[in-house]
Parts: sequence; C-alpha cells; structure tokens
Amino acid sequence: IPTVPIFGIRVSKVDMKTTVSYLTDAVHNREPHQVITANPIMVMAALENPSYMEIMKSAELVVPDGTGVVWAADYCHEPVAERVAGFDLLHELLRQGESYKWRVYLLGSTPEVIRETASRLQTGYPGIVIAGYHDGYFGPDEDEQILAGILEAKPDLLFVARGADSQEPWIAKYKSRLQIPVMMGVGGSFDVISG
Ligand code: UDP
Repeated sequence: IPTVPIFGIRVSKVDMKTTVSYLTDAVHNREPHQVITANPIMVMAALENPSYMEIMKSAELVVPDGTGVVWAADYCHEPVAERVAGFDLLHELLRQGESYKWRVYLLGSTPEVIRETASRLQTGYPGIVIAGYHDGYFGPDEDEQILAGILEAKPDLLFVARGADSQEPWIAKYKSRLQIPVMMGVGGSFDVISG
C-alpha cells in the first residue's frame, strides 16, 4: 500500500474504499494488522516518546485520521487520497463484514457503554457476529484473562477503546499473541455509538 513518511511514520495514502479492500484481504489471508488512525496529537506524542514512536512505526497500517496529518502529507508534496477517519473506518469495516459474517470483538469503555455498543452494532449490522466484548477498566494483572477471552472468541476484527495513550501500546504489546487480522484503536467511538 503506498505511504508517505511523516516524521518516519509511514502513513497510508489510499482512500477509504482501498483501505477497506486492503483490510478485507488481510482478513481473508489471516494477516495480523495493527491499524492506527493517526492524528497530530498522536504524532506529537510519538515525537516526545520513543516507545510510542516505535509503536507508530511498527504498526502494519497507519491511516490519516486527523486533518493535520492530511495537511502534513500535502506539505511533503505527497498528498494522501483523502482523510480516513477512524470512526468512519470502523463503520465501513462492519458494513463490509456483513457480507462475510466477520466476527467482531469490542474492548473498552465502561461496562454500560460497551454493552449498549454491542447491542446497537448487532442491530445495525445484523450480518456481523459480535463474538465478545469487555469493558476497558482493567489493570495489567487482568491482561491474561482478557487475552484468553479474546482468543477464545476468534475475532476477525478487534476494536479497542481505552484512549490513545493506552490502547495503541496495549495492542502493540499483545498483537503477536493475538494475531487478529484487524486490531484497531477507536478512542471515544463506543461512547458515540452508545450515546
Ligand atoms: N477508557 C477505558 N479505560 C480506561 C480509560 C478510558 O476503557 O482506563 C475508555 C473510556 O471509557 C472511553 C475511551 O476509553 O470510552 C476514550 O477515553 P478518553 O476520551 O478519556 O480518552 P482519549 O481519547 O481522550 O485519550
């Protein structure tokens, strides 16, 4: 997939449609992808924090979510096709997943928010399978239990909503064990969907 380097982070240049078709291939070929929806706050965090930069650089797919990232690509004379917002990509992947009965695991937010999100997404996208969900208020001591639950659910897509400073490092830490085709941080999306 063509990319533009922004401070060494390879940001995808393709549009939403191509992004969805690329990730569809990833699901069908069982190729794990950490998908990061980059905004300028995350890029700034990476510039200040080498371990966060390493996570951004080693993500299999970084899409230009923030308009500031789109602007930066323009500034480098390597424009991206369009902004690919995380919230939109979440919905596009669920729409696509309906054709294939993809299994989806939702991790993050409060117990009430995640329960309501699971219910609304199942209603909105009856073709997908909500393979499992769990709230995002747990400590490192519970990681193993959470990982076991996710692995048992055998998801094609894993969406994690715990805030950018925690969700991306969590996915990066465990992606080689999870081996899920799409593992993506979605920030406050579940709060929006459930609200
Ligand atoms: N969240 C979570 N666990 C935490 C902290 C936050 O699951 O320990 C959830 C929170 O409920 C919300 C989402 O992460 O649904 C985004 O949180 P917030 O807006 O505070 O993070 P930001 O996007 O500002 O980094």
